[in-house]
Amino acid sequence: MGAGPAGLTAAYELLKRDVPVTILERDPHQVGGLARTVEHNGYRFDIGGHRFFSKNEEVEELWTEILGEEMLSRGRLSRIYYRGRFFAYPIQAFNALWNLGPLEALLCLASYARARATPVRNPKSLEDWVRNQFGWRLYSIFFKTYTEKVWGISTRELSADWAAQRIKSLDLWVVIRSALLPKRKPKKRGEIVTTLIDRFRYPRFGPGQIWERVAEITAARGHPVQLGRSVSRINHGEGEVTSVETTRPDGATEAHVGSDFISTIPIRELVERLEPPAPENVRKAARNLGYRDFISIALMIDRREVFPDNWIYIHDPDVRVGRIQNFKNWSPDMVPDQGKTCLGLEYFCFEGDGLWTTPDAELIALATKELARLGICAEAEVVDGVVVRQQKAYPVYDDSYQANVAVVRDYISTSLPNLHLAGRNGMHKYNNQDHSMMTALLVARNIAIGSLLDPWKVNADAVYHEDIKLGERDLTGRQVPERIPAKA
Ligand SMILES: Cc1cc2nc3c(=O)[nH]c(=O)nc-3n(C[C@H](O)[C@H](O)[C@H](O)COP(=O)(O)OP(=O)(O)OC[C@H]3O[C@@H](n4cnc5c(N)ncnc54)[C@H](O)[C@@H]3O)c2cc1C
Repeated sequence: MGAGPAGLTAAYELLKRDVPVTILERDPHQVGGLARTVEHNGYRFDIGGHRFFSKNEEVEELWTEILGEEMLSRGRLSRIYYRGRFFAYPIQAFNALWNLGPLEALLCLASYARARATPVRNPKSLEDWVRNQFGWRLYSIFFKTYTEKVWGISTRELSADWAAQRIKSLDLWVVIRSALLPKRKPKKRGEIVTTLIDRFRYPRFGPGQIWERVAEITAARGHPVQLGRSVSRINHGEGEVTSVETTRPDGATEAHVGSDFISTIPIRELVERLEPPAPENVRKAARNLGYRDFISIALMIDRREVFPDNWIYIHDPDVRVGRIQNFKNWSPDMVPDQGKTCLGLEYFCFEGDGLWTTPDAELIALATKELARLGICAEAEVVDGVVVRQQKAYPVYDDSYQANVAVVRDYISTSLPNLHLAGRNGMHKYNNQDHSMMTALLVARNIAIGSLLDPWKVNADAVYHEDIKLGERDLTGRQVPERIPAKA
């Protein structure tokens, strides 16, 4: 169920081991899920730029096996854009103060001095923690606006834990001091912080190319992806799943039988579709899982060079755009005409909110205006635009998600052992493709050769660790800001 990276990796691995598969995908036109590449008048773009980098060498080798030389090696440039200036990412103290100009720099230093003199004791919120370390002004420029755009929650309500772990013992003085010391090079691949890597791989025609290629391979082996099949019902009885029903866009339904079933569709949808229904506590746990949604507006600009970065973070509070991708800088083949540029303006939202329901033409007009207001290009230079709405782009990590996922996981493993969960929303893990692929590889091998490796023990770096203890604080997902627990 699902032909994103996880579903297609599972199918690829099973076919390699001569296990026949049926691949069901809701999208009527294309495979790749969140990692698909959308095409519009010859311009190709991602749902958020997709870097291919993994600490798991098996996954890296699999990418090479599938795409060979079509996997490009690219340099990374991604800076923060604020009030018409580019700032280094991660933030460097001198660069930040210099770019802000002498007056703002002085105000920032005064604000830092005030924060050191009158710190918030026992800071609980992200806001208080970061303000203690950097001062209010730097905090509001470099942390507050962007974090609130991405998560849609005030930094006053977000817990300090995330910042305390991510930017441990860091304050402005430490940043300045470390800028003066020579940098130590990481010795091993494992030492590289994934978010900061400066080279990554990228398929020549975008991430969708690799998944389109896998779909071609499964079709050549006699198992084409069945597009336009939305899983609408999962029948089970006597302790196992017996068949899956799908609905086509014209309303026609079909039944698919099998011995084992792999779900990479969101847990919330999976549980809703079980027939007979799962026990109420399991349905409630699944219903309570939350998601953050995403709109990408691709604008075609009649200019060869706009900015040299792969993407930029937009920290200006007076525009709603959070990040801007420059797809030509990911791969020149993403645009059909090198004299033009294609920018992807990314807006974080909730399905059904004001932005989500705004008509496409208005969204394109908003994105065009915001580009001009930011000073990136003139409105008249925008020659075309298209909107892509993506539901469930991010599984939300709230106070109760771990307990809710555990309820569903335990029910499925004990009551429906031939139903296997894999992938990002399939396991409610805010992780990258490598993690989704690794969980799918393990599931496929468990089915094909009877191995007993637990996909829930794959960590955020896509590495399997037998000693991960499930049910405790979850260390297998990427760390993200979370709300302050109600009792704090
Ligand atoms: C903005 C953004 C940026 C990202 N950047 C990176 C990056 O730089 N590098 C990286 O490696 N990863 C990145 N990722 C993560 C990557 O996209 C995911 O890890 C990966 O796509 C997850 O694969 P999956 O197969 O588990 O899930 P998905 O990609 O979500 O695939 C699930 C599939 O199931 C289908 N489906 C859903 N419901 C049904 C149904 N009822 N019936 C049938 N089919 C159904 C969907 O249509 C979809 O095709 C990013 C994600 C986002 C949103």
